Amino acid sequence: MDMKNMESRMEELAKVARKRRLDRVLVCNQANILALTGVNCDSAILSVEFGARGGRPAVSLYTDFRYFSMVHRVAPKLACRDIRRIKIAGSRIGYESTVTHARYLALAKKAPKAKFVDISGDIAQLRAVKTPGEIEGIRAAAKLNCEIWKDASARFKAGMTERDMARIIKKMMIDRGEGEAFETIVCVGKNAAECHHEPDDTVWNGRDSVLVDMGTKLGGVCSDMTRNLVVRPSKLYKKVYALVEKANRAAIAAAKPGMTGYALDKVARDVIRKGGFGKCFGHSLGHGVGYEVHEAPMATQNRKKGSMVLKPGMLVTIEPGIYLEGNLGVRIEDLILITDTGCEVLSNLT
Ligand code: ZN
Ligand code: ZN
Repeated sequence: MDMKNMESRMEELAKVARKRRLDRVLVCNQANILALTGVNCDSAILSVEFGARGGRPAVSLYTDFRYFSMVHRVAPKLACRDIRRIKIAGSRIGYESTVTHARYLALAKKAPKAKFVDISGDIAQLRAVKTPGEIEGIRAAAKLNCEIWKDASARFKAGMTERDMARIIKKMMIDRGEGEAFETIVCVGKNAAECHHEPDDTVWNGRDSVLVDMGTKLGGVCSDMTRNLVVRPSKLYKKVYALVEKANRAAIAAAKPGMTGYALDKVARDVIRKGGFGKCFGHSLGHGVGYEVHEAPMATQNRKKGSMVLKPGMLVTIEPGIYLEGNLGVRIEDLILITDTGCEVLSNLT
């Protein structure tokens, strides 16, 4: 476990608290707690109290009996307390607006006079820059994902259904990693025009293209990649594929620290627009990957959502696509790591 680097992330949280004049932060989101403490617990509240005891924050993880021994093992230095006894002091409390409404009401009831300040964006930001340990974990997950794609696709045969092919991939992910980071997408032929097609009983004739969007989980972190098995492409398919590939390569060549996710999205979008297929690329260019398969930073055409500035240590997918309803779909998705000078592609490690 990456404890030293997680401590530095806790220091970042203290900076957020100072900037926003918070005397306490309550973290409820499972992946946020994991990123701050190394503890993976789906029913907990991380309470960080600032200002008391000479500036050093007092950190407590409130959870229930089912998790006590796991927390003691994973994070022996972390104070682990019974969630039924949680007391919330403080006048300005940072929280995540992404918690359920019921959870928010329960928290607000315990601190009726406090002002609750939404810091979910700040936490997303400090989680977006990965620790060296997290980067190594994601690198290994991405490498394994590539290997599984290579081995699984070599076993695809005419007569198999999308479900059959998805099952081959899923089994390899369980045997060699920690299973799927998300439900594997397998699309035969025109089914690829649906961006998030669920594998069904469509039979592969051995000639149509097959789009596969897959992510292996390993070491608690995710990977994400989309590849297209192309056998006998039509003229139109070739043209579309070349354009998507051009957009993917252009974005990878342009990705560097200092630019926003919005600007990165625009690089790929402009290529597709100039190629005459602008209306057929209706989703964002990419997203961050870490403990969750979709996290910050977002590379998107929405200026506000894509406003996060890319920094070294951030991961983002580059996944332009063109979808022609009832006809074909192509998406090429790579996972990149932002470096000091540009980026490194993690999804070509075989
Ligand atoms: Zn994907
Ligand atoms: Zn993705």
